[in-house]
Amino acid sequence: MSVIDLRSDTVTRPGSAMRRVMAEAEVGDDVFRDDPTVDRLEDLTAGMLGKEAGLFVASGTQSNLCALLTHCGRGDEYIVGQQAHTYIYEGGGAAALGGIQPQPMDQEKDGSLDLEKVEKLIKPDDYHYARTRLLCLENTTNGRVLPDGYTRQAQELATRFGLSLHLDGARLFNAAVQMEKPAAALAAPFDTVSVCLSKGLGAPVGSVLAGSAEFIAGARRWRKVVGGGMRQAGLLAAGGIYVLENHVERLADDHANARTLAEGLRALVGCRIDMTLVQTNMVYLGLPEDKASEIPQQLKERGILVCPGNPMRLVTHLDVSGEDIQKTLRAFEEIL
Ligand SMILES: *Cc1c(COP(=O)(O)O)cnc(C)c1O
Repeated sequence: MSVIDLRSDTVTRPGSAMRRVMAEAEVGDDVFRDDPTVDRLEDLTAGMLGKEAGLFVASGTQSNLCALLTHCGRGDEYIVGQQAHTYIYEGGGAAALGGIQPQPMDQEKDGSLDLEKVEKLIKPDDYHYARTRLLCLENTTNGRVLPDGYTRQAQELATRFGLSLHLDGARLFNAAVQMEKPAAALAAPFDTVSVCLSKGLGAPVGSVLAGSAEFIAGARRWRKVVGGGMRQAGLLAAGGIYVLENHVERLADDHANARTLAEGLRALVGCRIDMTLVQTNMVYLGLPEDKASEIPQQLKERGILVCPGNPMRLVTHLDVSGEDIQKTLRAFEEIL
């Protein structure tokens, strides 16, 4: 029985065409800047994001960490959402390694940070306070796309207070496809943008940090410091190029599958889904309290993997077909 894995969009496996371009990639020592495939990936990604330069890194965590270390010095602070990946899911790296203080704040239902509240958190120039240097946003955030026009207002605020603006765009291409806009348009208000190649796009490894050439030169130094200088990394970068060239437009299929899944589940007794939050490839499913804890095991017995939780997060991706969605709906129906 083939497994339907809805735990995350990180679980995809490279297909034979991707493996072939990876195996045949021209490589060199990237720490010596000798790897033409890494250069090509960095230029391609920077171009798609409308930035001057890119930096290939091992993971999204390393990408955000290099960005924070480059934007902020010891004793500086960055304003970030309470649920943001950089704040809660990256091991406190910026604080541990950079002496950078996070200033977390509650997020709105759509994932944005209320800019009036952000403004109140920007510290005056007074030696009692950490120096507020950076505002960090996330798009998509829990599958939701940041509202149109909002990021321009965030840019205006950042400019007014002399802050830099970083986007954790792990799933920025999902947002771009959903909004039917080029990724560069969504990235434009930001000084720096991090995108993951290994989420919905389906590459096995890697992220790219993009920004000005000067910024990326600084981030390249930090990447080496955190142990991210990789040698014949073109083998991995080739997978990244492959997915940027072949897997962006098809994200629309994942979004359609998520919507079908959400609509089907919502019709089942006891299931609750806020459809306004189903925008890209994630569904947050509220389950009957008495059944929620047993459902992951019951689904597993039917060949479906999910992460426990209530609401339960279900994620569609490259390796989940329309037929898999129908099978999943039948399994939920049986169990409930
Ligand atoms: C996955 C993810 C990252 C980076 O995660 P890695 O597992 O380190 O690649 C960063 N931000 C968001 C929003 C993510 O979902």
